[in-house]
Amino acid sequence: MQDGSDLFVFDAGLGLASLSYEIHRQRRLGVVKRIFVLITHAHLDHWEGLKDADWFWERDNGLEVRVFGVDEAINAIQRGYEHPSFVDLDLLAQSTVSKLDFISFSFGDVLELGEWRLESLALNHYSGTPEDKSVVQTSGYRLSREGGPIVCYISDHEPGPATVDVEGQLTRDANIVLYDSHFSTIAEQRFGHGSQEHSANVAKSSPNLLVLAGHHGPMYSDVDIEKTFRRLSKGLDNFALAVEGHGFVWDSTMEKFQVEETREPHPEILKASVPAKS
Ligand SMILES: [Zn+2]
Ligand SMILES: [Zn+2]
Repeated sequence: MQDGSDLFVFDAGLGLASLSYEIHRQRRLGVVKRIFVLITHAHLDHWEGLKDADWFWERDNGLEVRVFGVDEAINAIQRGYEHPSFVDLDLLAQSTVSKLDFISFSFGDVLELGEWRLESLALNHYSGTPEDKSVVQTSGYRLSREGGPIVCYISDHEPGPATVDVEGQLTRDANIVLYDSHFSTIAEQRFGHGSQEHSANVAKSSPNLLVLAGHHGPMYSDVDIEKTFRRLSKGLDNFALAVEGHGFVWDSTMEKFQVEETREPHPEILKASVPAKS
């Protein structure tokens, strides 16, 4: 999520390589100075993209990077990049970014990130089977600012009767939420993941909240995911699939997020592109 020169990144999986590459290639991202990376939990597919972020490879790029997470997540990241697996991110930060900080917090803390307020509550996520769970400390996020939208991120998470309150607290009066929608139906939910069916139910009960179904299970094809979505989204105009490359823009007059139309490439890219021969 971008707000002027501030960029908020929810999790740092392999997609971070594309996002960081785009910073110098999209006009609107060219103004970014501060990056707040909000890690939800220790699972490595949620932070392995850090090593591939362009900002750790472009000399003196001037970006300030702050990585947030609970202790368990921050420790996993720092251990994960230690010798002999890789090199400390602090070493990559030398002569590239102008700042790299790791900041850990506890559930319930309220942090001020620029103009934004970050709240975090514990989600229901674990490794292993439902019968033999190892709980993973996982943050559900709520970002809000005075006079601006409320943006939530609830992933990874297996919803159930015990999590109704947490989800309600995170999404109260919110404008947009991305939900773990790994499976199709609530009956299939396991391994600490949610479903499109649950996400659709949230959209049904909160008409002013735009619900994005994300974290799709890799065992489903795009066709499977879209078929499920078509079935569950009938009559709902506030339910959408989270699709790579699609974006939303906050419309402060309408007080809602609208589909982002086209993205303008960075002026340098336009200059460099070779006109087609006639
Ligand atoms: Zn996970
Ligand atoms: Zn995950």
